[in-house]
Amino acid sequence: MENCRKQKYFLQVFGCQMNFHDGEKIAGVLEKMGYVRADTPEEADVVLLNTCCVRENAENRLYGHLGNLKPLKINNPELIIGVGGCMTQLPTVRATIEADYPYIDLLFGAFNIHQIPELIMKIRETGSRILDVPGEGEMEEDLPVKRESPFQAWVTVIYGCNNFCTYCIVPYVRGREKSRRPEKILMEIRELAAAGVKEVTLLGQNVNSYGLDFPVEERTDFADLLAAVNTVDGIARIRFQTSHPKDLSDKLIRQMAEAEKVCEHLHLPLQAGSDKILKLMNRKYTRDDYLRLVDKLRSRIPEIALTTDLIVGFPGEEEADFQDTLDMVKKVGFDAAFTFAYSPRVGTQAAKLTNQVPEAEKMDRLYRLIEVVNQQAKAANRRLEGTVQTILVEGPSPKKKEIYAGRTRGNKLVLFAPPAGAAGLTGKELNVRIRKGLTYTLQGEVVE
Ligand code: SF4
Repeated sequence: MENCRKQKYFLQVFGCQMNFHDGEKIAGVLEKMGYVRADTPEEADVVLLNTCCVRENAENRLYGHLGNLKPLKINNPELIIGVGGCMTQLPTVRATIEADYPYIDLLFGAFNIHQIPELIMKIRETGSRILDVPGEGEMEEDLPVKRESPFQAWVTVIYGCNNFCTYCIVPYVRGREKSRRPEKILMEIRELAAAGVKEVTLLGQNVNSYGLDFPVEERTDFADLLAAVNTVDGIARIRFQTSHPKDLSDKLIRQMAEAEKVCEHLHLPLQAGSDKILKLMNRKYTRDDYLRLVDKLRSRIPEIALTTDLIVGFPGEEEADFQDTLDMVKKVGFDAAFTFAYSPRVGTQAAKLTNQVPEAEKMDRLYRLIEVVNQQAKAANRRLEGTVQTILVEGPSPKKKEIYAGRTRGNKLVLFAPPAGAAGLTGKELNVRIRKGLTYTLQGEVVE
């Protein structure tokens, strides 16, 4: 009874939380179509990759992944292979796939996830490839979402970005800022709460400009949205990312302090500590602006954990500029940082700059930066030793099943031995005393 076998899909997602949330929507539309998830690409009828073009060598890595899929198509000519995400928004990538990867049947983008079922049907019926990717368009609301976690959920509040930081490809591939209507967002969060979700992360490339694209008479802002989400019964924790420092208003800081469900954590990408480099990056703030924000945040929310993104080796960065970055890391004392060596993204302004930093120098700076970041992170974690923290239990640790993991409101991962009869702890809030602060994690014990 071959016809009764459920069709299977295999989905691989790369990149940021936004991409992973798009992955949940892709899974949602496929499962609504009757597909079930396959554990491996070999057993799937449809294989989809959701790509990211932000990271280093992303294009080459994509072609590597596509090459690995070729034998699958040879073994199973009926297999449909599709590629979506930021990469497919780049004309050069589309042209290469069309010419050199004839076994790729489908390209799609963030704006037509809702059409995936109909595109798959069309390919099955006609046997032809569909490689047109719509540019900017209306985001389809109300897509079914196959959530990865029953108690944590991502909720997109704003799409796109207007900022054009000179190193970043996002505005070119995700289009201009477009906020979702607050009533839609609140409806989604109420439904999530009713389904048992405890923690929501509000997502956008720049959540701080939420609502500013609405007509004047309907203007609202991210602080108002946080206040509204804070009233949703059943939701215990609210997180959000990403925040652009230039748009972090006093009103928002006040709201973060006042809304008791908003967690004491802010991811605030600094990117570089030198004013010269910040200007070249088109970030529109100075190191002093950033330090002033940190002061305001800490005076309103003393226990706030601050994390950041840092790039070393931006074109024109000299040793003195890099020292400014190290200095900022020490001055702010970040709880953690994502650190990157700059790599040019074709199509961005910075990629055209001629004074690129040699690779070896970039790596040398990166290692030196990581060392300082790690010292700061460990010091911040050690300061928590002896304190009692409320964690949201995420379940057994992936590495050691007998140890459980949970997150503090400051977003730090705490590992602890569960009390006897720990079944049912996952998704619950629990108090733990921090026994030891390490560089990346905390060790804790459950408080009776
Ligand atoms: S704010 Fe800058 S770095 Fe962030 S998505 Fe927009 S352009 Fe890229």
